[in-house]
Amino acid sequence: MSTTKEISSIKTVNPFNNEVVKEFKAMSEEQVAKIIDDADEAFKTWKNTSVKDRAEIMHKVSAIMLERKVDLGKLATLEMGKVLGQAIGEVKISAAIFEYYATNAEKLLADQPIEVPDGDAFLTYEPIGVILSVQPWNFPFYQMTRSAAAHITAGNTMVLKHASNVPQCAQMMEDIFKEAGLPEGVYTNLYVSGKDIAPIVANPKIKAVTLTGSKPAGASIAEAAAKVVKKSTLELGGSDPFIVLEDADVQLAVDTAVNGRMANGGQVCTSPKRIIVAGKIYDEFLAKTKEAFAKIVVGDPMEKGTTLGPLSSEKAAEDVAAQIKKAAEQGANIVLGGKRMERAGAFLEPTFITDITPKMDMYFEEVFGPVFMLYRYETIEDALEIANGTEFGLGGTVFGTDTKKAAEVARKIDSGMIYINHATGVAPQLPFGGTKNSGYGREQGKEGLLEFVNTKLIRTTSPDKPF
Ligand code: NAP
Repeated sequence: MSTTKEISSIKTVNPFNNEVVKEFKAMSEEQVAKIIDDADEAFKTWKNTSVKDRAEIMHKVSAIMLERKVDLGKLATLEMGKVLGQAIGEVKISAAIFEYYATNAEKLLADQPIEVPDGDAFLTYEPIGVILSVQPWNFPFYQMTRSAAAHITAGNTMVLKHASNVPQCAQMMEDIFKEAGLPEGVYTNLYVSGKDIAPIVANPKIKAVTLTGSKPAGASIAEAAAKVVKKSTLELGGSDPFIVLEDADVQLAVDTAVNGRMANGGQVCTSPKRIIVAGKIYDEFLAKTKEAFAKIVVGDPMEKGTTLGPLSSEKAAEDVAAQIKKAAEQGANIVLGGKRMERAGAFLEPTFITDITPKMDMYFEEVFGPVFMLYRYETIEDALEIANGTEFGLGGTVFGTDTKKAAEVARKIDSGMIYINHATGVAPQLPFGGTKNSGYGREQGKEGLLEFVNTKLIRTTSPDKPF
């Protein structure tokens, strides 16, 4: 049955003015099946290429991305509204991830000997086949890089379904892979809507699935994978706590929290979403936060000097505005902002909220926009109760001059990553991922490379010493 759709939700809509720039036709079931067949066929050869040869291509991908960082950055800004300087930064970290695996994969994938009383034992890491990767729009190059760089270098092939609002970024990456010399079928985009993805997981030629996105999308993918006993990894939402201890450098903590929260329009899974400040320094922190807000420059994300652009879409801006309205109705204090801006595009005022309590929905929700939520604590136990009081466990921060004490607090936060005196960051060698409903599995680093390989044991025993 052919189900080619006439009208597609896959399109570039510039959130700066909400104009439709380009539309893509969704693929038919037959087209999708053919792409998966080709990826499976390509795997037969790709798995037997040396890691060195694969790394050669990854070096080239990295170099092309760096050479075209401004063009790539402009495309991300056009499709999802992030400030251009931040978009270029995203391309640079993506190139660094390709470079990291190109340089280190041979060592990371090398056989690992295991000490045994007799004979020989070692682990060898073998690719498993076609990986289905489903990715979100908030970092259109970085998110796809995290899965593609690792799993393709490990010898798998990949079909990638990117978010429907960043189709040109997806196309750009497929073109770059081709230009770098990646053989046909090793990486291919699927242009389909998110709701049509779960049935694709059942295709027997798909060997595993990875998704970065929201909890409902993750649950749907994981359920589809579990039904056919396939491995999945999920990188889901977060509501990262940012605990400020009373000995912290207050100005540095304010600047780090405000800049971190406003980056990418507040649409970052690991953005410092809940700022939890010691009572002793709370008033100073609040006053300095207002000063930092006065420096935010809202405007055209392509313009130099703009620090906050639109949200990714009209719907995203409406959804966050509705969350703020509900919080205000439930008794939260909107200190600054809180409304849609009176201008074209998916703009929302940078918003500062205090007095959020567990009686309000916002206390438990992820707010995916430029919304700074300030909490006050009197004892460290209170701070940890707030920090651990949501379903999420992705990243987090502890700010304090006594870094040993800060690290002790970090150990008590239920999270996948905690940074001391820094907003949750990213580096190619550092494993990224969460716990609780923020998902499972890791990307980046050695852990990310080994998620979709068969860790095979080979054991040789001495003939004179049977089991
Ligand atoms: P989303 O709606 O879940 O979309 C993410 C991807 O999943 C898109 O490609 C989407 O396709 C697809 N999708 C949607 N519904 C699906 C379904 N039922 N089954 C399978 N795939 C489906 O998420 P979003 O709103 O774009 O992204 C924001 C969320 O991602 C936030 O919660 C954020 O915290 C999280 N995130 C997490 C990380 C991390 O590393 N942990 C990183 C970035 C973002 P369509 O576009 O076609 O709908």
